[in-house]
Amino acid sequence: MDDAIRKKLSRRNLLKGVALLAAAAALPGARAQGKASKAAMKYQDHPKGDAECSKCLQWIPGKTPTAMGTCKVVEGEISPKGWCIAYVKKP
Ligand code: SF4
Repeated sequence: MDDAIRKKLSRRNLLKGVALLAAAAALPGARAQGKASKAAMKYQDHPKGDAECSKCLQWIPGKTPTAMGTCKVVEGEISPKGWCIAYVKKP
């Protein structure tokens, strides 16, 4: 893939992430801390295809690569192998 296409895709992912953050905050399941509930975001504790939390822009890792972490937009402990509808692939 050439650099121009790669940059365009990265920018698209970033814009998609910002739009999803705004959408997550507006969801009925959104909490006072600004995070959405797992149910509202259709969180699952297993990957969807090759998409998983550890590859997501919103992922906040735990102490080890396999430890539970957290998410910038979904409340509670999050599995590195999980997935939800707010998934945005890291650039
Ligand atoms: S896939 Fe969903 S729960 Fe997982 S890190 Fe991304 S936004 Fe958070």
